[in-house]
Amino acid sequence: MNNQSPASILERQSRAFLRDGPPDLTQRRATLKRLAHAVKANADDLAEAVRADFGHRSRHETLMAEIFPVIAAVRHARFHLWRWMRPRLVWPGLELAPSRGRIVQQPLGVVGVVSPWNYPVQLALAPLVAALAAGNRVMIKPSELTPRTAEALADMLGGLFPEEDVAVVQGGPEVGAAFCRLPFDHLLFTGSTPVGRKVLAATAENLTPTTLELGGKSPCVIAPAADLAEAAASIAAGKLMNAGQTCIAPDYVLLPAGSSQQFVQHFVGAVTKLYPTLLDNADYTSVINGQHYARLAQLIEEAKQGGAKIVAIDPANENPPPQSRKLPPTLIVDPGENLAVMREEIFGPVLPVVGYETFEAALDFVNARPRPLALYYFGPEDQNLQKLLARTHSGGVTVNETLSHFIAENLPFGGIGPSGMGAYHGEAGFRAFSHAKPVLLQSRLNSRILLHPPYGKVTEAILRFLLRG
Ligand code: NAD
Repeated sequence: MNNQSPASILERQSRAFLRDGPPDLTQRRATLKRLAHAVKANADDLAEAVRADFGHRSRHETLMAEIFPVIAAVRHARFHLWRWMRPRLVWPGLELAPSRGRIVQQPLGVVGVVSPWNYPVQLALAPLVAALAAGNRVMIKPSELTPRTAEALADMLGGLFPEEDVAVVQGGPEVGAAFCRLPFDHLLFTGSTPVGRKVLAATAENLTPTTLELGGKSPCVIAPAADLAEAAASIAAGKLMNAGQTCIAPDYVLLPAGSSQQFVQHFVGAVTKLYPTLLDNADYTSVINGQHYARLAQLIEEAKQGGAKIVAIDPANENPPPQSRKLPPTLIVDPGENLAVMREEIFGPVLPVVGYETFEAALDFVNARPRPLALYYFGPEDQNLQKLLARTHSGGVTVNETLSHFIAENLPFGGIGPSGMGAYHGEAGFRAFSHAKPVLLQSRLNSRILLHPPYGKVTEAILRFLLRG
């Protein structure tokens, strides 16, 4: 899309931002509309690019999890933007009477976006929607692991926006590292926790405000009173979307000790219904590349060697060859806590199942690990749920379902601690990319004169008032 260095694109975008000033409501709504139209018009091409990058990616999943959230984000932003942009009038307080105050939402300038490969369209475009809604210019660095999608995005956005509004910079980790060292007015990074650490170190150099959307091990906690069949069906559907390559995919299951066998039966039944075959099944997505396939195979092998029970679900006994990268959904029952599968984010169709003796022990298990991006609870909305919500931390929670909180535009989406910092989606995205600027308007007649030297009795009296209890 461009032959210019990222630094010079940033400079041009910054200059254009200062030259043109913030776009008004009508301009922003029009920009978002054009973007949504283009995404819709290019949906099949984008889905094909993602499919080619993955080896196989279900077209329906691409439409549901990549195209729909972007269109929905635009629809939501276009509807609510007038309210988000409206300055909020505030009373500065008696002490400053008769001044007036307002909080003005101001675009930051140029926003950098670094996106990963697992949902390469959505995770590049949803931050773009939020940044444009807030009136910014944007530079996007997509993942090198999905090069066709990156190219398709660059083509689409290049045809839609001049480079001084929106630009796509392509390249791998070195380009990503250099990108994050640029003095953006805000940077949003979506990717792994280890790379997130490097990104924050890089943005610290310029004190660039940074949103980190990271990963982690998102637990599913099944309460003793839960319907195990329903929980298994929901976890299977959420886990196997995109073959488990989802930042908020259920990473492991905690269930009452003694119910593992029953859960396994329900889970196998649910998978068989969802995916009666794997190899040529258009609905079942491949693992992104050979390296990740080998990583997942190694996780399973290590667990097997460690004595865990392995349940590979291959409903039609196809035994998909590694080169298909269609890894059968695999349960790992009672894995040792030291196994890699219980320490690292799995990011594939592999699901450990761990028994707990008491619900408190399940909460302790979650709290003994880094704070996850998502947490799922299955069971009645009772005391246990209240305890779980009050005593565990996670980026977000969905109750009696998986993944759903992600697509609710009215809910902020983000992690906490090692699973991320900051949030976006809907109004949270608008606020992430705006500066809430306080403005105080003083009247000509005000109390300032009474607080100036030479201090005297009047000042003393005012101070007594200011320092009252
Ligand atoms: P990754 O961290 O390897 O790469 C993400 C992006 O960072 C890529 O564009 C890459 O080129 C770039 N990059 C690599 N090294 C860099 C560096 N030193 N400095 C700056 N940029 C660099 O992640 P991935 O493998 O593409 O994605 C999977 C991870 O992303 C998982 O951990 C997953 O949980 C997480 N994720 C999080 C969310 C979320 O919304 N929180 C969404 C999707 C994925």
